[in-house]
Amino acid sequence: MKHLSSDDVRKLHMQLVEMRTRLLDEIHTAEADITAAHEAREGEGRGGSDTSEISRFEELRRSEIEIDENHLRTIEEAEHRISEGHYGVCMDCGKPIARERLLALPTAVRCKVCEESALSH
Ligand SMILES: [Zn+2]
Repeated sequence: MKHLSSDDVRKLHMQLVEMRTRLLDEIHTAEADITAAHEAREGEGRGGSDTSEISRFEELRRSEIEIDENHLRTIEEAEHRISEGHYGVCMDCGKPIARERLLALPTAVRCKVCEESALSH
């Protein structure tokens, strides 16, 4: 990652850590919501009229958790690439990913050109 200064890498790493903290927070909140919904349902006992509503809410929260967890994985992978020293290199063409692109999107795994061609396929 010669195209990145150690200061850049430090900044990017900090961004990733912040993103990870925020996501973990969101996941915990969503999980707490699901637990609360379960408890509310148990408190009402069987035959509550809004059972289906609770499960819709749970489903929504669970799909949010799934999205967050996928995002979390891309962040952890980026952190791993930093610690391994091959961060900021395009996974398709092996060229360095532009510094501006990385600063805007620290989890980027492809350069702009490859990303666009990957999206168009
Ligand atoms: Zn590329």
